[in-house]
Amino acid sequence: MSRELDQEFMLDREALAHAVALMGQTFTASDFAKLGTTLPESGIGSIETLDQLAPIVLGRAARLDAPTAFAHKDPPTPWVTWATTLWNASLNQNLLHPATAPVARELEEKVIEWLAPYFGMSGGHMTPGSSAANLTALWAARECADISEVIASEAAHLSIKKSAHILGLRFTAVPVDDAGVIREEALPTDMHKAALVLTSGSTSVGALDPLTLIGRAAWTHVDAAWGGPLRLTRYADRLAGIEHADSVAVSSHKWLFQPKESALVFFRDSLKATEAISFGGAYLTEPNVGLLGSHGATAVPLLAMLLSWGRAGVAQRIEHCMMMAQKLADFIRGDDRLELFAMPTTGLVVWRARDPRMFERLLSELPIGMTSTVTIGQRKWLRNTAANPNADIELMIHTIKKVLGES
Ligand SMILES: *Cc1c(COP(=O)(O)O)cnc(C)c1O
Repeated sequence: MSRELDQEFMLDREALAHAVALMGQTFTASDFAKLGTTLPESGIGSIETLDQLAPIVLGRAARLDAPTAFAHKDPPTPWVTWATTLWNASLNQNLLHPATAPVARELEEKVIEWLAPYFGMSGGHMTPGSSAANLTALWAARECADISEVIASEAAHLSIKKSAHILGLRFTAVPVDDAGVIREEALPTDMHKAALVLTSGSTSVGALDPLTLIGRAAWTHVDAAWGGPLRLTRYADRLAGIEHADSVAVSSHKWLFQPKESALVFFRDSLKATEAISFGGAYLTEPNVGLLGSHGATAVPLLAMLLSWGRAGVAQRIEHCMMMAQKLADFIRGDDRLELFAMPTTGLVVWRARDPRMFERLLSELPIGMTSTVTIGQRKWLRNTAANPNADIELMIHTIKKVLGES
């Protein structure tokens, strides 16, 4: 008896080449309505599906690789991560079980082994983002340091407050100064039952909380979701002292150019922290560490990029982004019509026109994806984020000048 194999589960080089060819095309129109309102009874086949979805999925996506993409903490991704993500999808390893991920678990350990020393940490694991990394770290803090409270600046990321809520811990927000940095003098004097969260690269303005505050509380967690990768660059000193933290969160899908969802949580005493958040289960041969059940091999594209570029290659790209942010800031500071919030320290440039009527005009006339907005206090600002190494800073400065009207 011969057995018919279902070809849909097998490598089809030609079909995949077609999928890749579609990635290089530009689409002018897309027909979302064609998808209908109910689940189709019979399928149209995989090639037809690719052709129908390409104008929608590819054509209508935000282009984070555009020369004017400079608004958000979302980078374009290098192609080696696309290739290895394809491998991942085809292999579908599950890191929950050694049996379904014989090497993927070791590859994640390798990435952790390579990166943890830059933060002075002894180990950790990957999570699907820093929201989850922050929750994981504060969970370990609750177990290891017997805390009842989480303290962070009012500019801390939403996930800190959310984590405190989930973990049943009180949340205290500490005011920030004019540059968005936590006010040291406003910290509670007694933090022996608290986890203190310091942010390295705040959400709205990219501010750096002083890491000299590490050690004042029962546990200190550094949310380096955005700024963390600076540790691999010549700007490493901006996060000096991070090695004294109890835990650190870094989003690799931000400044480590990884496809989502990819992040890292590190612990100084990894054995202790990991044990505190490990659970055994009847069907598990090894304890289950952290928040996730089934999860995939997100370490593979990260490992591939690190191997391909080396530390120096990663640093070169981030340093180039930092240089572009500095150039933009220098231009803004040098133009009387514009006001700069603060000199950028982590690649975020926050600015506005002195004439408030120009706000909406700049926002609507600058290219989509170039500028985002933040409200600080009562005031609205424009914000650029240097996440795209292929951004064209001269073009963007030229565009701003044009909207302002050359004078
Ligand atoms: C982006 C960000 C987070 C959340 O990380 P995700 O990876 O989006 O879940 C937390 N803190 C800071 C400072 C961030 O910039």
